[in-house]
Amino acid sequence: MRDNTPHIKLFIPGPTEVLPEVLDAQGGWMFGHRMPECLSLIGSIRPKLRSVFLTEKRVLIAQNTGTGLMEAAIRNTVNKKVLNCVNGAFSTRWAEIAAANGKEQETLAVEWGEAIPPELVAERLADGSFDAICITHNETSTGVTNSLPELVEAVRNAPNGDDIMILVDAVSSLSGARIPFDEWDLDVLLTSSQKAFALPAGISFAAVSDRAMARAKTVPNRGYYFDFLVLEKYLLKNQTPATTAVSLLSALDFQLDRIMEEGVQNRFDRHLAMRDRTLEWGIGRGFKPLAAEGFRSPTVSCFHNTLGLDIPALNTFLRTKGMFLSNGYGSKLKNKTFRIAHMGDLQMEDMEGLFAAVDEFIDAQ
Ligand code: PLP
Repeated sequence: MRDNTPHIKLFIPGPTEVLPEVLDAQGGWMFGHRMPECLSLIGSIRPKLRSVFLTEKRVLIAQNTGTGLMEAAIRNTVNKKVLNCVNGAFSTRWAEIAAANGKEQETLAVEWGEAIPPELVAERLADGSFDAICITHNETSTGVTNSLPELVEAVRNAPNGDDIMILVDAVSSLSGARIPFDEWDLDVLLTSSQKAFALPAGISFAAVSDRAMARAKTVPNRGYYFDFLVLEKYLLKNQTPATTAVSLLSALDFQLDRIMEEGVQNRFDRHLAMRDRTLEWGIGRGFKPLAAEGFRSPTVSCFHNTLGLDIPALNTFLRTKGMFLSNGYGSKLKNKTFRIAHMGDLQMEDMEGLFAAVDEFIDAQ
C-alpha cells in the first residue's frame, strides 16, 4: 500500500521522516504483553534507551505521545508549587498542564524567540517556595534551545535547590542533541518517538532521577496510568502495566540498533552539521534566524520570512517535488516565519535537495 502513496519527505519538526525499514520493523506477528517475546523485546530496548539519554538511571516507556509524560512529570513531582518557564508555544503547555492538574504555579515568561535567562530563574526561586521547575529544552515553535547547564546551576544554587525537581521537555531534541541526564543532574527528561528518534508517533520516554522517584512516593493522586512508581515496577520486569504496543516497540528496538550503529555522538554531530548548513543557506538567502546566536536549535531552524514569501504557495510547489516544510507556529508566527527541520534520519543530501527546491521557488518569483 505504501508503494502507491506519493512520498512527501517531511522537513517539518515532527512527525519526522521514518525510513522504510523502520516502518517495516512494525510488521511482525503479534505477541502478548506477558509472553517471553515481549519481555525480551523490552529487555533489549532498555539499555539502548539509557545510552541515548546518557544515563544509568531508569528510562520509563509510555504508550502515548510526549504530552502524556509532561502530565506525568507534573503529577508525580509537584507537592508545593511549580515554576513554568515559558518562551514559546510548547512551554506554554507546561503551565496549562499544571493548571489542569490543580497544581499551584507561577510562570516565568519571556518573549517568544528568546531563551530563558538563568538570572531570572535564580531570582524567582530565591524565596524557596517552589519544589519543581519546568523547562522546554528545545522550543519547536521558535527554534530556540535553552541552555540547560546554566539553568540547572541557577536551580541548584537556590536555597532549597536540591529539593527542586527539574522537569525537562526534550520532545523535539532528544537523540538529536546531547543532553546528558546524569551529568546535568536533571530529574525528568522526556521525549516523544515521532521527532528526532524518527519513529511513528505513539510512544514516549522519560529518564527519571532517584530524587524524582523519592518525591513521587510523597505525592498523593499521581493518577493511575501515569504513576511513575507503577511504571517503574513493571519496567523492572521488562513489562508495561497495560497492554504493550508491541509493533511500535519493535520499530523502536530496530531504530535503537541503527542509532547504536551510527553512534550517539555521531548522531548529535550530524544534527549540528545540518543545523549549521541550514543557517548558512538561510542567512545566505537573506533570511534572519529568529533565535539569537548560541541558542539556535540543532533540530529545527526558524527564519523570519524577510523575503515575504507566500509560505503556503512555497509548500504547494515543494509538494510537486515530494517535500514539505513548516510554516511559522500559530497566529503569532504564521507566514511571518517558517521552519525547516533537520531532524531524525535526514541527511545532508536531503537538506541540499530542499535548499535547491526553495532556491528554485524564490528565483521564479
Ligand atoms: N513539547 C514540544 C517541544 C513539542 O515540539 C511538542 C510537539 O510538537 C510537544 C511538546 C507535544 O508532544 P506530543 O505531540 O508528542 O504530545
